[in-house]
Amino acid sequence: MLHRERLKPPKYVYPPDEWKFIEKDFYPRFLAQSETMFSLSNGYIGMRGNFDEGNPTFENGTFINGFYESWPIVYGEEAYGFAQTGQTIVSVPDTKIIRLYVDDEPFYLPTADLLSFERVLDMKNGILDREILWETPAGKRVSIKSRRLVSLEHRHLAAIFYEVTVLNGKAPVVLSSKLVNQQDRVNDKRDPRRARGFVDRVLLPKDNYEENQRIIFGYQTNHSRMTLACGMDHVVETECSYSFRRETSADSGKVVFSIEAQPGLPIQLTKYITYHSSRSASPKELCGRAERTLDRAKEQGFSALLAGQRRCLDGFWKRSDVQVFVDPSRRRRTREEWQQAVRFNLFHIFQAAGRAEGVGIPAKGLTGQAYEGHYFWDIEIYLLPFLIYTSPRIARNLLRFRYSMLEKAKERARELNHRGALFPWRTINGEEASAYYAAGTAQYHINADIIYAMRKYVEATEDLEFLYDEGAEMLVETARLWADLGFYSERKGGKFCIHGVTGPDEYNTVVNNNTFTNLMARENLWYAAATLKEIHRDHPDRFAELVDKAGLDISETEEWQKAADNMYLPFDAKSSIHPQDDSFQDKEMWDFDNIPLDKYPLLLHYHPLVIYRHKVIKQADLVLAMFLLGDEFSMEEKKRNFDYYDPLTTGDSSLSVGIQSIVAFELGYLEKANEYARYAVLMDLADIGGNVSDGVHMAAMGATWMVLAYGFAGMRDYDGQLSFNPVQFEGQGRIRFPLTVRGQRIEVDLKSDCATYTLLQGDGLVIRHINEEVRLSPDAPSVMCQAVTRGDA
Ligand code: BGC
Repeated sequence: MLHRERLKPPKYVYPPDEWKFIEKDFYPRFLAQSETMFSLSNGYIGMRGNFDEGNPTFENGTFINGFYESWPIVYGEEAYGFAQTGQTIVSVPDTKIIRLYVDDEPFYLPTADLLSFERVLDMKNGILDREILWETPAGKRVSIKSRRLVSLEHRHLAAIFYEVTVLNGKAPVVLSSKLVNQQDRVNDKRDPRRARGFVDRVLLPKDNYEENQRIIFGYQTNHSRMTLACGMDHVVETECSYSFRRETSADSGKVVFSIEAQPGLPIQLTKYITYHSSRSASPKELCGRAERTLDRAKEQGFSALLAGQRRCLDGFWKRSDVQVFVDPSRRRRTREEWQQAVRFNLFHIFQAAGRAEGVGIPAKGLTGQAYEGHYFWDIEIYLLPFLIYTSPRIARNLLRFRYSMLEKAKERARELNHRGALFPWRTINGEEASAYYAAGTAQYHINADIIYAMRKYVEATEDLEFLYDEGAEMLVETARLWADLGFYSERKGGKFCIHGVTGPDEYNTVVNNNTFTNLMARENLWYAAATLKEIHRDHPDRFAELVDKAGLDISETEEWQKAADNMYLPFDAKSSIHPQDDSFQDKEMWDFDNIPLDKYPLLLHYHPLVIYRHKVIKQADLVLAMFLLGDEFSMEEKKRNFDYYDPLTTGDSSLSVGIQSIVAFELGYLEKANEYARYAVLMDLADIGGNVSDGVHMAAMGATWMVLAYGFAGMRDYDGQLSFNPVQFEGQGRIRFPLTVRGQRIEVDLKSDCATYTLLQGDGLVIRHINEEVRLSPDAPSVMCQAVTRGDA
């Protein structure tokens, strides 16, 4: 159940456009939200959509993925094994600022007399454009155009093109381009989702360098000892005469351009920006790298950067665009609105993932500091499905990144007295950073989520190299963990039980036999046993490596197999449903009828103990299992379970509604499925959770694609076999999207009466359409004209 009133989308102020996200006016009341929405990122550098002039701001944020400060977690009452060190992504020095003065009057948006204003996030070109016509108090009309990009091609580079033209007179114009270290303190103690502020200074100045119009600063973080260089350089083009001067202090640097503006003559300032970070290189070395990046950028020029953006995005959209067509006579939302919303979500995923090399994807991407810039299971369960089928190289990078954390995961397992490896619930550097173990460390399912995504990746790409190398080691260590964690319970007929864990639903914590966890652990164990037996049989050399690296004995696979075969799965014969865990059925019902809507999300209004003793669910748990492992449930079971759990689900997490939509589609609950789908797609655009100001909801963005592919198109990929079971998109609509499968590319085109599958690249692929096998060949598309079978139940 979703509280419709609470979730009713607020008024949507953005005019529809298929490729652009547009703001037609300066809306002070949407300042915080729009900073998030207009964020630019390439997965390494992220810049919130703060105005070029540096104010007003809600959260002035520039982030470098994986660049964090650590701090000791202080517990009122300590206990053994609690996470000791917190990690928080740092808001790095702001390089976006270009202050403008005309006739010595500052241009300040809230008080400026704006004759026109438009801001556009252009999703085809990867740029943020702003055009303003300002009338100064003295009656000068000033055209201000700016164009910002964070390069998708050059990971360490961003740039701003800023053009000022005084249209109707001469005037002294000053452009003050800044680099400012301003450790923002975003700290709302009442909302655990937001980042904590720092008490001590975070960035210690270590080096700086200046010459002409270039300034570079080198820093080191106080505690985590990470290093950073950030720099800026400029190119001015104008026929007006100008001079410049430079000023630097410990925490800021500026290059100030003073120009004698002539009527109608544009003044163009291009600002090149770079960031480099490291765990080992000295700030000095990073400053050298920053120099080289700036040299290269200036040499190539802004238009080359623009062309690069377009190239990267053309490639991305070709691999990933989902085109939607709706029948205008039937629907409330137009095609442009739908298309814009879908692309907005996909674009932000690419922004967050594109150049996330050697790092993960934070829960908010790089659009805000909330959730401290941590990586969660959101990556594997919500973002990888899209990336596996559209950008397998990026998917591989993310899985490799998990592999790079394996040693720390092994240490953590030892700390918790386990064998094998336990991946951290939330982290940046591989160490567990969750200070609340009940909704953190206890989510052991993270291990199985990673393996689940890896299996999907391997099946969709046939990348056996990855599986036999990094993958196999992760399989061994995760399987060892499960085998060690569970036990054969006499009271449960000798079945293998897993106690004291938290499933995805954070409103029921530290429970026994969470069905989701047991099912996912079983998959993990089975897959580990099968893969390691295969390697033992077919690749003795590789097996020998594993014996060496992991001390593996082939007999361990029997242990894993036995635990998986005997996994206990709660089932309540009386109601014929799968209980979420051993105790869930016995809890008191949450008083949904009388608890006012303003008490949601419950986590902000009730002590955890109050929540935990009730039948109330934060996010899809058993329902998620029915999607991820859909072939383990019969249709009747799915229906009974969904009917039972859906009314108990608050949707207090943005991760929920997309999954509820997919399962509702499968069950033929089309009205509900469509409604949930809209919530998933509009999660950020309509600020459904009310906190988009803190950053986008990356997982919900991934769920948008999942709703389209797994929901509307009814795609499933059990055991690597791709199948489709479509429903009509928005009444009489149509949906078309490409997929990359085992190196081949197909296009799925679903209309109300026909489904067409075209092999765009490759030499042949077998898929299933409803119950029929379809052989795709390069010769001609396969058209199946019985597309829609499912009506509303
Ligand atoms: C959800 C988690 C999720 C995290 C980060 C929490 O509110 O309950 O499942 O991983 O947010 O998105």
